[in-house]
Amino acid sequence: MKEIANRIFKNDLPTMAEIEAKYKPRELKEGARVTRFAPSPTGFVHIGSLYAALVNEKFAHNEEDGIFILRIEDTDQAREVEGAADLIAQSLADFDIKVDEGEVSKGNEIGNYGPYRQSDRKEIYQAFIKYLIEEGKAYPCFATKEELDVMREEQQKQSLRPGYYGKWATGRELSKEEMIKNLDEGKPYVIRFKSPGNYDKRIAVKDVIKGVRELPENDLDIVIMKQDKLPTYHFAHVIDDHFMYTTHVIRGDEWFPSVPLHIQLFRAFKWKTPKYAHVSPIQKLEDNKKRKLSKRKDPEANVMYYAEKGYPKIAVIEYLMNLANSNYEDWKKANPSLTYNDFEITMKRLAGSAGALFDFDKLNSISREYVATLSAEEFFDNGLEWAKKYDAELADIMVSNEEYVRAIFGIERGIGERVRKDIVKWEDLRADIEPFLDDKFSIGKNEALELIGLDEETVSKVISDYLASYDKNDDKQEWFGKLRVVAENNGFALKGKDYKKNPDAYKGDISSVAKIFRVLLMGKVETPDLYSVVSVMGEKRVNLRILRLFS
Ligand code: GLU
Repeated sequence: MKEIANRIFKNDLPTMAEIEAKYKPRELKEGARVTRFAPSPTGFVHIGSLYAALVNEKFAHNEEDGIFILRIEDTDQAREVEGAADLIAQSLADFDIKVDEGEVSKGNEIGNYGPYRQSDRKEIYQAFIKYLIEEGKAYPCFATKEELDVMREEQQKQSLRPGYYGKWATGRELSKEEMIKNLDEGKPYVIRFKSPGNYDKRIAVKDVIKGVRELPENDLDIVIMKQDKLPTYHFAHVIDDHFMYTTHVIRGDEWFPSVPLHIQLFRAFKWKTPKYAHVSPIQKLEDNKKRKLSKRKDPEANVMYYAEKGYPKIAVIEYLMNLANSNYEDWKKANPSLTYNDFEITMKRLAGSAGALFDFDKLNSISREYVATLSAEEFFDNGLEWAKKYDAELADIMVSNEEYVRAIFGIERGIGERVRKDIVKWEDLRADIEPFLDDKFSIGKNEALELIGLDEETVSKVISDYLASYDKNDDKQEWFGKLRVVAENNGFALKGKDYKKNPDAYKGDISSVAKIFRVLLMGKVETPDLYSVVSVMGEKRVNLRILRLFS
């Protein structure tokens, strides 16, 4: 088939020997892992992609000398979206996923095994496709779309497996002369791999996550080069992962059925296959049924969603680490001073096709815990950085009332204090600050009384007693001591227990008194530490708020 190969490809292709000489085996320490994230630049970055990238990167970097490659798989140019490749590199950088080789930012490619964009590797693929044709392991196929449609219809009618295989693969039968004639006439063609497989035989496929599974051999003569002369995914995967010396192909579960084909392609060149690990897509529960996170339906499928809502990136990473290995959270609790980079990912623990389930409660709880580890200063700085990008009004409030806002954030966030855990993400800051701001806070009398659950007279009396005994120099203990006196004088139990035992003897307990102030000062029954709220708001504001409705 040399003649055919020479007709299809000009002689200016690099030779296989040249390519092999260029990409010498890596000299890495024993056990070093080479992994890659190989997205197609077709739009926004899916949280499932970020998950796969994270798993690949951590798995490579868990061992010394590990290499993590970013390869842009842009051979399906019809699906390509402009700017998508840059967005991928940017998202990886945003989430601290360290790329050792590939286009780390626009126009900036690093590594000796590139180019790392498949459209720039056209000649490498063609050199090896040419070889397969020469060897009689691939051939040009001139079947038209109409002919293929007829074939599919016929297969359907006969209830047969669809595809170009066995007796259906009529392109195989074409004589050399016919092929040359077609080529001379300029008939469009693709190149197909001549599969040596038998579908009735089974092959054992080893997967790092799934273990050993038996699959039927591949007998499809799949397209390896399209009409636009670019390779298909299958072919590019084999060439690239061979010449980039990938040790572990960790990729989406949808590729698992293609492994027998990929093994055949590796064998056609007498190359060693990498290890495979197929990762389940991220799913969510809807009406008790699992389904894939959908690009269209689920805003949380887009990684931008997390930035917009203000989930700290570390929280998102830790959430994904926990999704990958559910022992992560316990490990982190046991090793609070270590970071997720110190955690060793175990492939076998990854969810296989059973599915990794997306769980907002879990994400929120991880995020809440993470936010609680920030100092008041970090809290302010990170919050402001987010607000500047996503909530300009909030940023403005933070900047023009900096001292006040810092004091608000400092509530229960000081050294040695029990840290409050009411903030999950930066978007929540607005709700946290607003009750403190005079032009954002308002509550009507009826609403207030309803929340407080006491009659107007009692509330007024408590307030006037409180104001009569208030001294701005009181510390927390003194302040609270006075509140207890006010409570007792007004018929409230000091202990919840006493009130519960004898509810008719009291108007409520001390927490009912606190509630009066919580509602009048902040418009809600649950607030941060009341003494801190009172101190941060300052005497004037507190008095204004409590006297406004019940003077
Ligand atoms: N471009 C393929 C995809 O996005 C990559 C699969 C792989 O990692 O090999 O699905």
